[in-house]
Amino acid sequence: MHANPFRDLPAVHELVADPCLRSEVEQFGHEAVVQAIRCVLQEMRDRLRSGDVPAGAWSPQELGLKVRRLLEHECQPNLRRVINATGIVLHTNLGRAPMAASAARAACEAAQRYVNLEMDLESGARSHRQGLVRGLLARLTGAESATVVNNNAAATIIALRALAKGKEVIVSRSELVEIGGSFRLPEIMAVSGAILREVGTTNITRIEDYAAAVSEQTGLLLRVHPSNYRIMGHTAAPTLRQLVDLGRARQLPVIDDLGSGALIDFARWGFHDEPLARRSLEEGADLVLCSGDKLLGGPQAGLIAGRGDLIQRIEKDPLMRAVRMDKMALAALEATLRAYHSEEEALKQIPILAMLETNLEQLQDRAHGLAHALQQGAIPGCVVDVRDDTTYLGGGSTPMQSLPTVVCAIQSEKIRCHELAYRLRIGTPAVLPRIQKDWLLLDLRTIFPEEVAEVAKAVQHALREPPR
Ligand SMILES: *Cc1c(COP(=O)(O)O)cnc(C)c1O
Repeated sequence: MHANPFRDLPAVHELVADPCLRSEVEQFGHEAVVQAIRCVLQEMRDRLRSGDVPAGAWSPQELGLKVRRLLEHECQPNLRRVINATGIVLHTNLGRAPMAASAARAACEAAQRYVNLEMDLESGARSHRQGLVRGLLARLTGAESATVVNNNAAATIIALRALAKGKEVIVSRSELVEIGGSFRLPEIMAVSGAILREVGTTNITRIEDYAAAVSEQTGLLLRVHPSNYRIMGHTAAPTLRQLVDLGRARQLPVIDDLGSGALIDFARWGFHDEPLARRSLEEGADLVLCSGDKLLGGPQAGLIAGRGDLIQRIEKDPLMRAVRMDKMALAALEATLRAYHSEEEALKQIPILAMLETNLEQLQDRAHGLAHALQQGAIPGCVVDVRDDTTYLGGGSTPMQSLPTVVCAIQSEKIRCHELAYRLRIGTPAVLPRIQKDWLLLDLRTIFPEEVAEVAKAVQHALREPPR
């Protein structure tokens, strides 16, 4: 028996000099290995003390493996790839829209090389970075002009500030939205320096309410898309056309914050209340605002399109400097917008559109492929089932409409599904499943086809790995 179990642990200087850690010292450096050894030895002492592990000799190889795992863990980037098996197409916590390959390539090139970010190559004169996408955006939305900033929150703040600082902005009480992550319209309004003038009620706001609120103090009329909620039942709201008529009569700009920023009609997939920038501008909105990384499927960005004179005032605002896009995101945005030149191209190239275009048969094929691959590894006591299910677009869009999908459902006799989900989350690559009533669901809607084999491997690994 061991009188002092700690005596079986080697000293730091012995372990670091052990041949089993030679390649680690080369790869990670002496100091990092010493640090890792200290951590591992401390953990072992703690576990011995608590009786978590039985006393006994630990070979340098066993300890060396723990050291290696720790070093590898620490070398993993903090921001890393996650396989999205939740089925939520625009998952806010997973970076919203994955970008098109062409967009990623453009961002990569802009990052690694010099680019004409603010130079007109023809004349050699200085230019504005917003000019790089102005024409494209204007063409795609039918706007006179357009500009871009970091995200839609910034677009809202700068538009309100440039056009209505110190003045009243009239908004319906049914549209005082919180998007999440501290975007709350009344607070955004306060930050911009505009004064919120609420009209109407939660469920009913009429054009007369807006008209009655207009005064010398009014700066503009704002409509906000209720992205992540709906007001149902006995409701009424003026049409955009009515707001535009009022705005024109009283010489007030009308801004339409669309939120999600679809450039093609999502009605084809059954989503009927996602507004199109083009339609809104056709109905007479003076400016539309939307995000770049929601239904547009591009990088994080805030797009502002509409009247040229208003765009100019926004670009002249000193805040523009603080909210301008960086070269990588701009390159990605340009490539994304170019993909929209043809709808067919957009549906192929933009990943979130391609996901929506994938039909149930294709998803079923992939799900059976995944189930088959999982059963190859034949884990006893584990059930794998292919089922139809429903999911959501996410990202604060279309909260009421679900999307049909196909999932691989997994249940293990031995491992609870929350434990399984945990193991998948901390694996490499990380896999994020959905959990539903003790079943672990892998939703094929958001798993890229080329990721299916990786998911199978990850699940097999998670099912086998002995509890730590
Ligand atoms: C998402 C959203 C925003 C915020 O956009 P970000 O790009 O996330 O900053 C603002 N308004 C509406 C209506 C939205 O849906």
